[in-house]
Amino acid sequence: MALDEAIEVLDSRFYRLVIHNAHVEHLWSGARWAEGPVYVPSAQHLVFSDIPNDRTMRYDERTGNVDVFETPAFNANGHSLDNEGRIITAEHRGRAVSRIGHDGLREVLVDCYEEKKLNSPNDVVVKSDGSIWFTDPTYGIDSDYEGDSAESEIGASYVYRRSTDGNLEAVIRDMVRPNGLAFSPDEGTLYVADTGISHVGMECPPDIRAYPVSTDGTSVDGAYTTFATCTSGVFDGFRVDLDGNIWTSAGDGVHCYSPDGVLIGKIRIPEVVANVEFGGLKRNRLYICATTSLYSMYLNTRAAR
Ligand code: MG
Repeated sequence: MALDEAIEVLDSRFYRLVIHNAHVEHLWSGARWAEGPVYVPSAQHLVFSDIPNDRTMRYDERTGNVDVFETPAFNANGHSLDNEGRIITAEHRGRAVSRIGHDGLREVLVDCYEEKKLNSPNDVVVKSDGSIWFTDPTYGIDSDYEGDSAESEIGASYVYRRSTDGNLEAVIRDMVRPNGLAFSPDEGTLYVADTGISHVGMECPPDIRAYPVSTDGTSVDGAYTTFATCTSGVFDGFRVDLDGNIWTSAGDGVHCYSPDGVLIGKIRIPEVVANVEFGGLKRNRLYICATTSLYSMYLNTRAAR
């Protein structure tokens, strides 16, 4: 039985992660730039952003339909679910991280740091303790294309942690343009992609860094290690499976890295990929936001949690 021609195996460990009769499915096209997918199991749908069109979209897993979830949408980018199943949103134009409550209303959780406006939160994850960790590069204020053009008030791009009591701390300050982020399954490592190549070129290689999380779980300790350097385009957003493999966006598709940082396989996609998310009720369906389109592929693995 042949693997889908989109599958590229670079290390034998990749064979057991893919399904031999599963294929890349093209689900929808029509975005200007698709990013920020989050799966909502209670609704069996995937919400994702179409940032330049200032809307979030919804893919209904039961019907296969795609419709507009929200517009205008504060040029929403990354999404995540919190531990109560509410959608957390990184907003470019809102320059905020917000939450959609169970009543359907948007609530801004954080929009400034030391009384200065955030740049344009890009991607967000929620830790098991309920804290919200997000990146704040300038892509949403660099132009009017995917937000409102503005100067950075903070003058730098940090990674932040918002505690459940609303306290905000900059936990990483040594990146150029932090972008996607995710925790290892044991939450002992925080992975963060730097896409600063967009602003300073190869002074900032397109890496995912691995930062050890402090023993109390509220920050990162010590020096990072470079987990991987992208071999095609940049790493933007990524997710981690239950074995700690990282499934990341790249220029030629989805790249899969083993926990020891080896590129073990690829799913080739004909458009630049921005972000991925595990969906399906078994969390074994990888959704892929790729420029104008949404794709998916069933895998023989699942989301970390
Ligand atoms: Mg991003």
